[in-house]
Amino acid sequence: MFRHLEHDAIQLLGILLAALVIGQFSGRTFLSLLVGLLLFLAFHFYRLLQLHATLGNDQRLKAPFPPGLWGDIYADVRDLQIQSRKRKRNLVRFASRFREAAHALPDAVVLLNKARYIEWVNPAAKTLLGIRWPAHKGHHIAQLLQQPALLDSIHAADYSEPVEFSPPHDPARILSVQVTPFGKKKRQRLLVARDITRLHHLEQVRRDFVANVSHELRTPLTVVIGFLENLIGLDETTPIGQARRPLELMEEQMQRMTSVIDDLLTLSRLENDSLEAGMRAVDAPALLRAIVADARNISDGAYSFETEIEPNLWVEGVESELRSAFSNLVFNAVKHTPPGTRIRILWHLSDGAPVLVVEDDGPGIPQEHITRITERFYRVDTARSRESGGTGLGLAIVKHVLHRHRAELLISSKVGEGTRFTCRFPATACVAAGNHQARSSTGEGGGDDDIVSS
Ligand code: ADP
Repeated sequence: MFRHLEHDAIQLLGILLAALVIGQFSGRTFLSLLVGLLLFLAFHFYRLLQLHATLGNDQRLKAPFPPGLWGDIYADVRDLQIQSRKRKRNLVRFASRFREAAHALPDAVVLLNKARYIEWVNPAAKTLLGIRWPAHKGHHIAQLLQQPALLDSIHAADYSEPVEFSPPHDPARILSVQVTPFGKKKRQRLLVARDITRLHHLEQVRRDFVANVSHELRTPLTVVIGFLENLIGLDETTPIGQARRPLELMEEQMQRMTSVIDDLLTLSRLENDSLEAGMRAVDAPALLRAIVADARNISDGAYSFETEIEPNLWVEGVESELRSAFSNLVFNAVKHTPPGTRIRILWHLSDGAPVLVVEDDGPGIPQEHITRITERFYRVDTARSRESGGTGLGLAIVKHVLHRHRAELLISSKVGEGTRFTCRFPATACVAAGNHQARSSTGEGGGDDDIVSS
């Protein structure tokens, strides 16, 4: 560390010796030593001032450096200066590369400070969001983007879902904006806007295609089933009546196709229709009791049902959709478990939120399937599902219905122990019985179009 300390030690010894000699001759040893030490200190103080002045002017230290300790200090400071310049250069290079990359991005990037004022935007923000740089620097985001859902997302703590909207300056475009908190305390916001117009149109084409095909197939199928039923009803002595078995099999397959088409139409309706129109207070306890009664009847008492239903807990929603979701879960517990299975249905308030639990002690679902069973046509055991009359669309319908009601679906299962489906509604969906404007017409067989998956 102190490579040339001996130089300064020799210098100090020299001064002290000289002071002693002068002191001997002059008879004032103490004074002479004091003067010597002061000179030594003054010299080092001068060096210190010199270094301070050089660094203060932001000058680079260059060799040759003074001998001794000061030389070491100068050399060390010079090394630090070189390192810091190198780091600064790298940082500048990185910042300019980052800026180049951000400029080349087709997505709009907007940085907001913690008070939601614009700190920086890339050029794509002008095309996609109409935010110009540097003209809009320091503007509040609410002044420039009057999108309530986006502003909510910026203020809220949940940024999992991107917000989709059409910007007013270009209504033909559809944007998906993802808000991400950043910074040490995560108080700043990063907005990334993507143009999803093409994706949106493709998705619409897909939805229309499925809806149209399903619609077009529904009528001929009904006609064919009608004819088949007539033929099956013919006397066995007629030539056609003798082919009853194949006709029955044909009708069975046609019915299965009808179920799949009905479920596809249900999904199309869930994707395309707006929810608000059908929203009202739904008597969920009566709805659940009716579904359980149906399940009991269909299963001929082969399953044991346990219910714990909070009688006064109504929920805000679309009754036909809720009936579909709830019955799919209850009927699945019958369809996919052997006779003798215990099925428990629990409807209650949990932390202020209405929650439905449908659980069984059936064979369970292997873990690797759980994340996929809500996908369309995904079945754990395709052959068994078909045998039990399943379409593979039931849980996709459940997921869509719950999503539309801002509820979440949790699935937990253990092979050999059973399966539990939990539907957790938002606390705001909770309606106490008797505290609602529009009473629903729930009950056995009551209500609007049923959309129960077969
Ligand atoms: P499906 O028409 O086959 O019932 P779903 O979408 O309703 O279609 O269910 C998807 C798959 O999830 C089913 O095929 C079945 O394998 C599995 N599944 C659903 N509910 C249960 C349950 N309670 N127990 C075991 N497996 C289940």
